[in-house]
Amino acid sequence: MLNQSEVVFLRKTEPDRNSNTRLASKKHRLPGTLPPAIVCQQCHIRIADPEHRCSIHGMHLHTFTNSAGYVYHIACFTEVVNCKTDNAKTEEYSWFEGYAWQLLFCDVCDNHLGWRFSSSDEFYALITQRTLDLSGGNLH
Ligand SMILES: [Zn+2]
Repeated sequence: MLNQSEVVFLRKTEPDRNSNTRLASKKHRLPGTLPPAIVCQQCHIRIADPEHRCSIHGMHLHTFTNSAGYVYHIACFTEVVNCKTDNAKTEEYSWFEGYAWQLLFCDVCDNHLGWRFSSSDEFYALITQRTLDLSGGNLH
């Protein structure tokens, strides 16, 4: 989990292990670049990989309104990279019952990208309006 960036790097050198989906996406890739990813909308650093999309309560995409009335469209991922959390873990107003949340920021530009939710397991909710999906996947 902590060595996600290493894992991604290793996978890049092992094409035979990858799925048909990944192989199919190769034709859109420029030589020498990493496979398409979900990136920070502000600084374009890699944030998540399409293969780490997950469903929480049966859905990958969720829409929530926070206590201040802001509407967020979020997509759930099992792992992210180049992100940092704040230290204030709380279950107050949690959108996912039983999960504590922390704010999730871009490690490069400090853009608020979403939240980390943790319980006995954990996942990451990325705000779709603050990320760009370069993978060709459909987030909406
Ligand atoms: Zn950023």
